[in-house]
Amino acid sequence: MKFQNRDLILIAGPCSAESYEQVWQTAEGLVKHIKPDIFRAGVWKARTRTNFFEGAGIPALTWLSEIQKHFQIPVATEVHDDKHVELCLKHQITVMWIGARTAVNSYTTQRIANALKNTDTTIMIKNPIAPDVDLWKSSIERFLNVDVKKIYAVHRGFFTLRHRLYRNEPIWGIPLELKRSYQNIPLICDPSHICGRSSCLLPIIQNALDLEYDGLMIETHYKPEIALSDNMQQITPEQLASMITQLSFRNNNTTENAMLEQLRKEIDFIDYQLIQLLAHRFEIVQNIGRLKKNLNLTILQNERFRHIFADRIKIGLEHGLQKIFLKQIIKAIHNEAIRLQMQIYLDENIDNNSDTLSRQAN
Ligand code: PEP
Ligand code: MN
Repeated sequence: MKFQNRDLILIAGPCSAESYEQVWQTAEGLVKHIKPDIFRAGVWKARTRTNFFEGAGIPALTWLSEIQKHFQIPVATEVHDDKHVELCLKHQITVMWIGARTAVNSYTTQRIANALKNTDTTIMIKNPIAPDVDLWKSSIERFLNVDVKKIYAVHRGFFTLRHRLYRNEPIWGIPLELKRSYQNIPLICDPSHICGRSSCLLPIIQNALDLEYDGLMIETHYKPEIALSDNMQQITPEQLASMITQLSFRNNNTTENAMLEQLRKEIDFIDYQLIQLLAHRFEIVQNIGRLKKNLNLTILQNERFRHIFADRIKIGLEHGLQKIFLKQIIKAIHNEAIRLQMQIYLDENIDNNSDTLSRQAN
């Protein structure tokens, strides 16, 4: 779908499929106000508490396939195991998603991936609940490995104890790292599960657009106040349409701006200098390593590291840099220095050892 000349994949629909009337009315409202590319509804819901509504189950698959046919809109639901995949395919539902609770489980994810092999399915993989980019990447790889062609990554935020502002903290660095690794996998933002309440959706959606996300998954219900799950975060189709009109779709073609170009050249130059300086620093580190070896000193000199750490942080803070960033960068440089010096000690140990071995052989 195009908004102000920008392509955006819009996925909308209720959190859960509750009743025939509810999914139908919601789909009808969406088609009237803003027809999404995909209509979503959870037929099976993984819930935190045992007495919570768990979706209408198998009968809802028939409702969804009716909607698909009638409104000419692909429908999607969440699958929790390979049996669900089979049932969806039986009902001509070929867009599915893996929830945040499933994405943490490599065994279940693999079973779902195997069930999708050789099918023409679109799979949307939500980020796992835990803020671990490798876990998310591995879930995606399981589908790539069985040659599933249409894969979307859905960013729905992470469970942390830090941020009470969000239901799930966005931690934007993680989806951006994923985007760098998988440039051809569309990245979708699910602001509903990030926010947990409808009042904070707009700024999160705007952030996602500003970071060049490829699409949005937004929970929409014809009557959010009576929704049987996630009622605080759902909005009506009409509210969704109005929200989209309030967004700024910024231009991502910036090459024509001379000022920006000039500043980018300066940044490039500084990066090259940083790299040269680092390379020079590591040459000296290696010389120190050889010297330490000759002087029979340990590689790690804790006193010296503590001094470097405190001193560089102090100077960095004076320059207005953030403490957490300074800590990360100093530790990364120090770890690399230790690795290089260990290599020097190790090479020499191996040399001595092979000398001894060749003497013994002679
Ligand atoms: C959902 O999309 O309704 C859902 C349960 O999502 P998540 O797995 O992200 O919590
Ligand atoms: Mn939900």
